[in-house]
Amino acid sequence: MFKNVLVTGGSGFLGKRLSRERPHWHYLSSRECDLTDCRQVRELYGDLKPEAVLHLAARVGGIKDNVENQADFFYLNTMMNTNILREAHNAGIGRVLSSLSTCAFPERAVFPYNESSFFRGPPTITNFSYGMTKRMLHVGSMAYRKQYNLNYSTFCPSNLYGPDDHFGKESSHFVPSLIHKVFTAKPGEDIELWGSGRPLRQQLYVDDLCKILPILLELHNTSTPLIVAPKENLSILHMAETLIEQIDKNVRLSFNGELDGQFRKDGSNEALIKIIGPFEFTKFKDGVAQTYQWYQENYNG
Ligand code: NAP
Repeated sequence: MFKNVLVTGGSGFLGKRLSRERPHWHYLSSRECDLTDCRQVRELYGDLKPEAVLHLAARVGGIKDNVENQADFFYLNTMMNTNILREAHNAGIGRVLSSLSTCAFPERAVFPYNESSFFRGPPTITNFSYGMTKRMLHVGSMAYRKQYNLNYSTFCPSNLYGPDDHFGKESSHFVPSLIHKVFTAKPGEDIELWGSGRPLRQQLYVDDLCKILPILLELHNTSTPLIVAPKENLSILHMAETLIEQIDKNVRLSFNGELDGQFRKDGSNEALIKIIGPFEFTKFKDGVAQTYQWYQENYNG
C-alpha cells in the first residue's frame, strides 16, 4: 500500500472529496505549487518525496467555458501534464496515476465504447482542446511507461457531480448548474437550460470515484485508459425532471436549443469491474437528491 501519496488538484472538487476518503495523503493546491512551472514541480517532488502521484489537477470547465477558452485549456493542461510526468521520472517516482476524461474519446463510435476506441477519431469539437490535452497525457504516460518501465497509467471518469462541486458559475457543468438554477428559482418560475435536453450522459457520483481511486492507484498497472462510469446513461431532460421530482419543487423547464454538445458519449465499465470487482454505483436519483441537500446546507458562494 502506498503511504506517501501526492494528490495534485487537491483543492478542487474531486480532490476535496477524496481527502475525506484518504485524509493522510498530501493534497496540493495551485497556491502551494504552480504545476505549469517545471522548477516548482521539481522542488515539490524534492521536498515531499512522494512514492506515488495521483494527478488530478487540470484546467476544467463546462461546455461554454471549453468553447470560449480553448487556448487556456491547451496551454495550462499541456504544461501541467508535461511537468508532472517528466519531473516524476527525473525524481525516480515509480507510480503516477493521471485523470483523463471521457471527453477525450472520439465523438463517433459504437456506443457504449470501450478503451480500444480511444484513438479512433477526433474528440467532439466543443471540447477539442481539452480532450486532446487529455489524450496527450495518456500518450505521455505510456511513453514513460514503455521507455523507462514505470507504472504510469490513466483513467477516464465520465461527468462528475456531487457535494463540493462548483455551483452556479459560468464554468459550471450541467448538474451543479441545474441545482443552482432550481434552488434559486421562485415557485412556478421557468428555468432555461442549454441545448435541447436530448443528449445522453453518464453522471458519476463523485464519492463513488473517491472509493475507486485508491484501488486503482494500487491495482491499475496497464496501458489502458480505463473508463470509470456508471451504467446509467440518461437524457439531460430526464435528469432535470428527476431532480425536480426528488425535491418536489414547482418549476418548469425550457431549453434554449444552443450548444447541445455530443449526443451520446457513454463508455463501458467492463474493464474497470475486472480490476475492482463488483461495484454498486450511486443511482442518479439518489445522488442528485443528496447533492441538492448538501447545496442547501453548505453552499455559500
Ligand atoms: P477542479 O475542481 O476545477 O479543480 C482543479 C484543480 O486543479 C484545483 O485543485 C486547482 O488548484 C488545480 N490546478 C489548476 N491549475 C493549476 C496549476 N497551474 N497548478 C497547480 N494546480 C492547479 O477540477 P475537478 O472537477 O476536481 O477535476 C479533477 C480531475 O478530474 C481533472 O483532471 C479533470 O479533468 C477530471 N475530470 C473531471 C470531471 C468533472 O466532471 N469535474 C469529469 C471527468 C474528468 P487551485 O484550485 O488551488 O487553483
